[in-house]
Amino acid sequence: MKIKCDFCKTEYSIERAPSAPVKCAVCGHVWNVVVPSRRGAWMLFIASVCALLSAIVFVTAVVVKSKIEAANRAPIVAELSEIKVVTDDDGIPHFAVSGAIINQSTEIYGVPDLVVVSRDATGHEIARQKFMPSATLVEGGASVGFNHVLSTPTDGVKKITVELQMGDE
Ligand SMILES: [Zn+2]
Repeated sequence: MKIKCDFCKTEYSIERAPSAPVKCAVCGHVWNVVVPSRRGAWMLFIASVCALLSAIVFVTAVVVKSKIEAANRAPIVAELSEIKVVTDDDGIPHFAVSGAIINQSTEIYGVPDLVVVSRDATGHEIARQKFMPSATLVEGGASVGFNHVLSTPTDGVKKITVELQMGDE
């Protein structure tokens, strides 16, 4: 291998890396010969490539898994956000429900009709009322709001849920 004096730049050829500081025969400068470890550099390169590959595999696995999960979920869901009691001109109370229709897919969907189900304290259905939300389309990943005043009685109603009208129910 070749080494060079740090000070006067004189070059020397030596058999192997010296274990102790060397002294320049020309100028008398003493310095430590640092031998770059090729094997160490190579191992570091291998390790970084492995880390990169495992990161790519990990990301791919996560993306594939989330795609499967998205496909297994219903593309369209409806969520109630608020239930209020409003009274009409005759002083009769009605439930006013509002919420959102959420498109969990990446494709545009037509907004389905919604069915508001009123149940009593034991979970028995008191009434089902279908209505058409004002929005007709919901973009992928977007949501549209809905609100509706039920004409069905409020007596005994303890739980209200909203369902999507699927097919010709
Ligand atoms: Zn020198």
